[in-house]
Amino acid sequence: MNILILGGGGREHSLAWAVEQNPKCDRLIVAPGNAGIAQIAECASLDIEDPGAVVEFAHAESIDFVIVGPEAPLAAGVSDRLREAGVLVFGPSAAAAQLEASKAFTKEICAAADAPTAAYGHFTDADAAKAHIRAHGAPIVVKADGLAAGKGVIVAMDEATALAAVDDMFGGAFGGAGAEVVIEEFMTGEEASFFVLVDGTDVLPVGTAQDHKRVGEGDTGLNTGGMGAYSPAPVLSDALQQQALDEIIKPTMAEMARRGTPYQGVLYAGLMIENGRARLVEYNVRFGDPECQALMLRLGAQALDLMHAAAEGRLSEAQAHWADDHAMTVVLAAKGYPGAYEKGSKIRGLEDCPADSFNMVFHAGTAEAEGAIVATGGRVLNVTARGATLHEARDRAYAMVDRIDWPEGFCRRDIGWRAL
Ligand code: ATP
Repeated sequence: MNILILGGGGREHSLAWAVEQNPKCDRLIVAPGNAGIAQIAECASLDIEDPGAVVEFAHAESIDFVIVGPEAPLAAGVSDRLREAGVLVFGPSAAAAQLEASKAFTKEICAAADAPTAAYGHFTDADAAKAHIRAHGAPIVVKADGLAAGKGVIVAMDEATALAAVDDMFGGAFGGAGAEVVIEEFMTGEEASFFVLVDGTDVLPVGTAQDHKRVGEGDTGLNTGGMGAYSPAPVLSDALQQQALDEIIKPTMAEMARRGTPYQGVLYAGLMIENGRARLVEYNVRFGDPECQALMLRLGAQALDLMHAAAEGRLSEAQAHWADDHAMTVVLAAKGYPGAYEKGSKIRGLEDCPADSFNMVFHAGTAEAEGAIVATGGRVLNVTARGATLHEARDRAYAMVDRIDWPEGFCRRDIGWRAL
């Protein structure tokens, strides 16, 4: 197969790493890719949010299978256009990608499917939203309806913060994403992520994970895209996974199919666990980044077979084979992230890190310049390791971190603390 992966972050490096090892992969192109991906695949420059351009590229390069990494191309309809053009693709249609692109849509689907989630109200004007907040009181959660890169959610511990968030959102602080607002009951508990593949009908679990969103140790400081993750998430017991499948995931997938918009791709369920029960916080329509890096190290080459089976509607005959192991990924970020940071600093020592089925440094924001690897983004490297225990995975990951010579970068030293 000739395979095209869309995206250029650590998630896509780990997908490329898994796919490239599978003998069914003859040729692998990643657009746009990054310096790490360039070591194992061809990188191509392509506007991946332009469906027409992606279709043209897929035809020109005789691509048999496209794997979409991030959500933006999905919301832009890239999967739809590829399917219309007869190209096999892993990733939901724009209509099904609404499960991430619109919070009001997801709440409505959950209500129709009777899936447990926070109680909510959906508002198109500020006065009604504020009246709802005053009636319910704080803590309460105010969300811009659309995609806001993880910044459109305000968990308000007091009423004044919630009311101000409503003004910000309707005032345009999140552009079009904030033209509609969802206000939710504040849920307490422990959060974990559950990943399943879906082929329109059947659902196949491919792992659990927990991430660390805050920039500082002890889960303090500003929110980020994610500073590290580990898989599996011990809190998501087999019984809880089954409950989430039976009460949340399968009913919502059935509701999507019933509406004529069946879901195909990876579905990432963010769950809140309290008193032995899971409730849905959110759906994402792609692998989490950096959770994907930990999942891919555990899945290896079979990830391609599973994604291919999902795209072809053959998940009922597919099975994920798990070693009873653990993986952890530690994000190295540029100092200053998630605020302002410098670009262009040199990273040394990568050649001293092992690269095998237990240890991988996946690249996120990197480029090659004059024979050196340089940082080009906020989150730059995803140091990922696997072991028989989470302790072993952690020790291997931080041993690699310590070999990397990048004074302009930093990482959290406590990834996995909750599980450890
Ligand atoms: P991201 O892309 O960063 O995951 P998002 O913009 O898609 O975020 P959500 O995942 O819905 O937004 O919310 C972000 C975070 O806010 C959640 O991970 C959770 O910690 C918190 N949160 C969201 N909804 C609730 C809720 N109803 N009760 C308590 N906390 C919540």
